[in-house]
Amino acid sequence: MVQADTHHRYHVVCRECRTEKVFESAAAAESFTRRHAEATEHIVVYEPIE
Ligand SMILES: [Zn+2]
Repeated sequence: MVQADTHHRYHVVCRECRTEKVFESAAAAESFTRRHAEATEHIVVYEPIE
């Protein structure tokens, strides 16, 4: 199924180090968030950018 919000980009920010990235899809942002959290045990959040 294709999501309708393909216009959004997603801003990923780690609360515990200076990691910060922008992704073109929620799936990519979520994947990076999970991998960084698993690798470092940091708290990472992402949010859509209008
Ligand atoms: Zn981090």
